Amino acid sequence: MEQVQVACETCGAQLVPNAAYCERCGTRTRRARRLVRMAIRVELLIFLMFVGLVVAFIWIYAVQK
Ligand SMILES: [Zn+2]
Repeated sequence: MEQVQVACETCGAQLVPNAAYCERCGTRTRRARRLVRMAIRVELLIFLMFVGLVVAFIWIYAVQK
């Protein structure tokens, strides 16, 4: 079970449930930071898959000659 963050880590202001940012100082909440990290990971995975596909095609092309 996920622990809900209720106060800002920087200024201690109370957060709106599921808030991505602190309304007082603008600091990202833990939940938002995790989502950002996850998004970066997914993007990296898609990029690596694309690179792998390109490399595979180049390799197949080189082998066929
Ligand atoms: Zn704050």
